[in-house]
Amino acid sequence: MEAIRRYKDRILGFLSNDIGIDLGTANTLVYVKGRGIVINEPSIVAMNQKTGAVVAVGAQAKEMLGRTPAHIVAVQPVVDGVISDFEVTSEMLTYLIGKAQAGHAKLLGPRVVIGVPSGVTSVEVRAVRDAARAAGAREVHIIEEPMAAAIGIELPVHEPLGSMVVDIGGGTTDIGVISLGGLVNARNVRIAGDRFNTDIVSHVRNEFKMLIGEKSAEETKIAIASIAIGRLPLETLVRGRDLVTGLPHEMRITDQDIRNAIGHSIEELVEAVKDVLETTPPEIISDVMQRGIYLAGGGALIRGIPEFLTSALGVPVIVAPDPLTAVVRGTSIVLNDLDAYRDALLKSDDELVPTE
Ligand code: ADP
Ligand code: MG
Repeated sequence: MEAIRRYKDRILGFLSNDIGIDLGTANTLVYVKGRGIVINEPSIVAMNQKTGAVVAVGAQAKEMLGRTPAHIVAVQPVVDGVISDFEVTSEMLTYLIGKAQAGHAKLLGPRVVIGVPSGVTSVEVRAVRDAARAAGAREVHIIEEPMAAAIGIELPVHEPLGSMVVDIGGGTTDIGVISLGGLVNARNVRIAGDRFNTDIVSHVRNEFKMLIGEKSAEETKIAIASIAIGRLPLETLVRGRDLVTGLPHEMRITDQDIRNAIGHSIEELVEAVKDVLETTPPEIISDVMQRGIYLAGGGALIRGIPEFLTSALGVPVIVAPDPLTAVVRGTSIVLNDLDAYRDALLKSDDELVPTE
């Protein structure tokens, strides 16, 4: 039986592409079996508000931001952990699935595994499924991102052992506890990279009377954000508009300034992780205490964050290798053995309990 299944898999592999997608709030990554990660682009669709037409998707859409006429607007398919707009999600998936297969056309449509934020509703699951089918997918499997991240980090998700992942993305942080192939506890909170950026914008406005853009705030964050005190001080230049004179202005900003700006949000993040720990069964907590909490997503790259969380939570916190690709690597592992990961996938919507 096993041999027949493998043989069938190989034949299908020749006839179709298998694709794994991490539909993140900030970045979308696409893996194609046999070719690796082929797309890594911002999750943005630029639309013409007058006609409703899609003008650009991904990196090209981000490039346009702030440089287009007012009726061209940027829309994100996933906002605050929910699928915001079926049309936009559908456009994004069509673009991605098309681009992933360009020059590699096969006879059958692809099998697709898509990672979505934890806690999506059955309506949203159906929207993503329909959007992927409309984009030509032959089979669509949906997995919650903390689960995909845990698989990508190669945690022993199938065992009766608790594993915990905190995925600090752009719009949301996904906190998940996994055992025996399923999520046993999960929470999705809106404290993540975008919030840190707006924290920095407000702090610079209040403290230094200067207005900076969110893009500058993000660049500053990536350049010098650090939660660790006592490391070598870091600094960078930031440009904006002096609110007193109204003129362009440039100033030096330090990691201490960024710490002051985002400290409050980091504290809130700690509270959210504590809440999840407090509502997790004691046996599983004991596993997590021994094996640690794994950090994924771009926010895991803030300097000193694992040390800070370790001391705040009293549980070892470890940054996953290559945290930005953990989810898409998870989808690739699932694609390679769909049968073994059945339990980790969201049920097809007819089996889902309807939400009122
Ligand atoms: P999502 O899964 O929601 O698409 P990602 O995991 O791709 O999000 O992470 C994107 C977020 O991580 C952005 O807010 C970005 O600013 C932030 N980020 C990326 N690299 C770094 C870094 N080196 N330091 C701090 N934040 C970072
Ligand atoms: Mg993500």
